[in-house]
Amino acid sequence: MVLVSARTALHVLFIKIIVFIKKNMKNQDLVDYLRSCGVCGVCQLRYLKARGSEYKDVKETLRKLDVEVNEIVENGEAAISPEDRPAKKARRGICSTCLGLFSEDFQMELLAGILASDFAKYDCQKIVLAICLPMSLQLKQLAMWFALQRKFGAAVDGNNPPDVPIKEAVKLILHPIICEKLSKEYDANGLMINIDLTHKLEDEEVEKLVKLNKDAFPAKAAYQKRIEISRGLLEKQYQPSKVKAETFEKYFEIPCSTVEEPLKLTSIDLQGPLVCVAGRYRKLSRELSHTPWVMNGQRLMEDSIEEIIIRHVGPHFTERLDKITFMSSGREDVDVRCLGKGRPFVLEIPNAIRSCLSKEKAYKMEQAVDTSGKVSVLNLQVVAREDLTQIKTGEEQKKKFYRALCALKEPVSVEILSKLQIPQSFDIQQKTPIRVLHRRPLHTRPRTIYSVKAKVQRGNPKALVIDIVTQAGTYIKELVHGEFGRTTPSLSSILGKHIDIQALDVVGIDLEWPPEVDNSTPTEEGATNIR
Ligand SMILES: [Zn+2]
Repeated sequence: MVLVSARTALHVLFIKIIVFIKKNMKNQDLVDYLRSCGVCGVCQLRYLKARGSEYKDVKETLRKLDVEVNEIVENGEAAISPEDRPAKKARRGICSTCLGLFSEDFQMELLAGILASDFAKYDCQKIVLAICLPMSLQLKQLAMWFALQRKFGAAVDGNNPPDVPIKEAVKLILHPIICEKLSKEYDANGLMINIDLTHKLEDEEVEKLVKLNKDAFPAKAAYQKRIEISRGLLEKQYQPSKVKAETFEKYFEIPCSTVEEPLKLTSIDLQGPLVCVAGRYRKLSRELSHTPWVMNGQRLMEDSIEEIIIRHVGPHFTERLDKITFMSSGREDVDVRCLGKGRPFVLEIPNAIRSCLSKEKAYKMEQAVDTSGKVSVLNLQVVAREDLTQIKTGEEQKKKFYRALCALKEPVSVEILSKLQIPQSFDIQQKTPIRVLHRRPLHTRPRTIYSVKAKVQRGNPKALVIDIVTQAGTYIKELVHGEFGRTTPSLSSILGKHIDIQALDVVGIDLEWPPEVDNSTPTEEGATNIR
């Protein structure tokens, strides 16, 4: 028994050694071949399918993979031995597969370009690079793919690229380097640095590509008058399993040769992040609209909740206040107040120059809004973009809490009071109120009323204070007076008496978002509230 297992172990070890030798022989062979084609050190690692941090030290990683490092392996520069180099040309060639994208020269140029842009104007800790690469790079990749198949045969798959594709490599290699040099963090939602790169040969190559496309896909070319050559098309259609090497070679070299010109940085544009600032507002005025109230080009009310909040919060994040979107979990009528904990809202601020908000600054904004005397805000904070769904979905399911001041033509009796104590829920049918028909379609909507509770107003025997809990979207004024039977049942139909609503307050909205924050007391850890 012992003997058998010892033999098995030996056998496994033997196989492991064989695999080890084979693998390493292949690595060395592969790298030797790539070097002979003028492929830089970083790209050699791409073809060895290196991951993440392995790109930090090219020589070290090559050594780990048992590849000799006796050649020049400067990033992005082709490793051509001195005797192969044209005598008149002092400098080394540009990598034949990345066209110098991963060279230190290019990193320096890119960094200088970013610093020379409006970069300093943005106060954002998180960045993302969006690089637009010329199609030449995809052609180089394909040429190398064909070349490797010719050299190594079936070991190179025709469907899956033999390298870590340039786009992915940009994330693995360029992103960390640029982030480190700028002392920033990577975040897909951060300040977007749009980088446009071109190559001298691109136009010429695209022309050839149009011809190649007709040759490689004649059936498609026959019925499509004009084929748009795009990066997407190249990615999808141009693989050794779909295009023959012989066809490709009529137009492009296999393997691709080194080039003299590196990629050219043509432009750098910055786009600030989309910042979302949430909070809850309380509406203290019965003469204030939700958003600017304009009719026939005339303003009917000089201010609005939206404008007051944006005026005090917006300038911290952007100069373009007109680009800010104000959203809230429902809204109230001009003459309705919103009290209690207030109504959740969020400002969507595109292309922001700043992505964080300190508690101290948030508190100052809250105080500034308070000075309007019409609106107050609390819990101001920057929230993640994904959280916006909180305010947008489930609106109909939410409960709303109201307090209505209602008037009768007679003093409130015990009978009236008892009819308006309804602890259990009931359903009503509500036609679109006449007052909103100009902006809402005519429908009959079922709505649930969860409870009704009335009491006599102190000092006024003909007035009732009624607390009503309803499904969101219920028209409360119509629920009270019934609007000539357009809402049934209504409090008026339940009483069998005319009842009028004089004032309405929203006193609660059952959305526990955004989280409560007390901005008046700075936290110990630096008093910041950074997303
Ligand atoms: Zn390269």
